[in-house]
Amino acid sequence: MSALCNRLLIVAALLGGLSGVDFPRLVAQQSRYDVVIAGGTVIDGTGKPGIRADLAIKDGRIVQLGAVARGQAAETIDARGLVVAPGFIDVHTHADDIASHPSASNFVRMGVTTVVAGNCGGSALDVGEALAKIRETRVAINYATLIGHNAVRRAVMGSADRLPTPSEMARMKSYVWKAMADGAVGFSTGLQYVPGTYAKAPEIIDLARVAANAGGIYASHMRNEGTELEQAIAETIRVGETTGARVEISHLKVDSPSRWGASEKALAMIDAARAKGIDVAADQYAYTAASSTLGIRFPAWALEGGEQKIAERLNDPATWQRIKKEMAGLLAERGLPDLSFAKVASYAADKTLNGLSMKQVATRMKAADSADAQFEAAREMMLAGGASMVYHFMSDEDVARIMRHPKVSFASDSGVLEYGDGVPHPRGYGNTARVLGEYVRTRHVISLEEAIRKMTSLPAEQFRLVNRGIIRPGYAGDLVIFDPARVADTAWWS
Ligand SMILES: [Zn+2]
Repeated sequence: MSALCNRLLIVAALLGGLSGVDFPRLVAQQSRYDVVIAGGTVIDGTGKPGIRADLAIKDGRIVQLGAVARGQAAETIDARGLVVAPGFIDVHTHADDIASHPSASNFVRMGVTTVVAGNCGGSALDVGEALAKIRETRVAINYATLIGHNAVRRAVMGSADRLPTPSEMARMKSYVWKAMADGAVGFSTGLQYVPGTYAKAPEIIDLARVAANAGGIYASHMRNEGTELEQAIAETIRVGETTGARVEISHLKVDSPSRWGASEKALAMIDAARAKGIDVAADQYAYTAASSTLGIRFPAWALEGGEQKIAERLNDPATWQRIKKEMAGLLAERGLPDLSFAKVASYAADKTLNGLSMKQVATRMKAADSADAQFEAAREMMLAGGASMVYHFMSDEDVARIMRHPKVSFASDSGVLEYGDGVPHPRGYGNTARVLGEYVRTRHVISLEEAIRKMTSLPAEQFRLVNRGIIRPGYAGDLVIFDPARVADTAWWS
């Protein structure tokens, strides 16, 4: 794996989901152990019930589990009354720019010690170079990455809306091959984004096969998560069936009110594929809102060819009318009357709009809050560089049903955040703590042991992150300590 940092990382999430952090610890050489964590309830990540035990760590590895004699460690942490779990593993992140924010504090504060970046088709094109830079920077958490289809396709074909030629296909394959050789853990797609959305299944299969042959996983932000959810899942499963790749359905959800309840069908499709021997799993974040670009609301054909061409279309009255009609039509199919389910997360051109709903934005920009005014405001924002958005369009029943599935892990879908920058989706600060507080302690949707398994050994196994995700001698000493009675997420929408 491309874990770059073997330093001992212990996260103590004791208060309100916000943790005290200790890394790296400087320890005396002469002690038998570097750290002993004494008297906690060890929940080992396999799903087994917790046991009262001490843990001894040396050189970043767990060396003993059970009773450990006192006075043998450079440092002893009293964990009585607290849970000691493997550090959380977040396999769906956009932490690609971690070298610019090496403390990765939003992840550390929610107990995450390992992230997988390069999701939704977006990654560095030169994975070897990116990993070298991260290694040099000495970031605070373990980092692995996928190679993203959109990065590869853009490098070879720009944002062209067509099939690749044979020589373009060969070049794309060689990019994927090189990334895998350089340490990528798999291949990701973002089939709702430009340019990945222009790719058909055979292209994806051919590229995923290159990653699969090198032992990589196929992780997909699918083509559709609502009106055509079943077709999208079938396409994703087909990639695994054809190439032999393990498959991860990214941020599994039902994103259209008209399809609420379809999670039952989605999970049944996963079970049916698994019964046929196709290794399909999924991840989710524990919220009923998503976060994505503003552009994702526009028809794919309108985004082809780069900024200039997009602006030409939006500025041509007849073309804009056509775009607007399609946008409204796509929303209507999904049971959404307008854009009021959308809030601005980050709009560089006017930060005072951050946190406002599109209804409020339309009132501000167009002195009206009708659906039409909202579309006009969205057009203006696209012309000014686009925005990242939060979309409230899921049902809690679907979120909870997906959560109960044994092959669904928890992942934040977040990047590395700087506190105070924009109004991002709270999942980037609170995802794991929300699971433990809201879904485990308050609502009993899943047990504590199961929640921890879904943040540790399950994602480690799916992504082949060796010797992580379980508390066991020989495994990495990545640990999180928290109070199960108090852990909670404090990040929320404004
Ligand atoms: Zn995505």
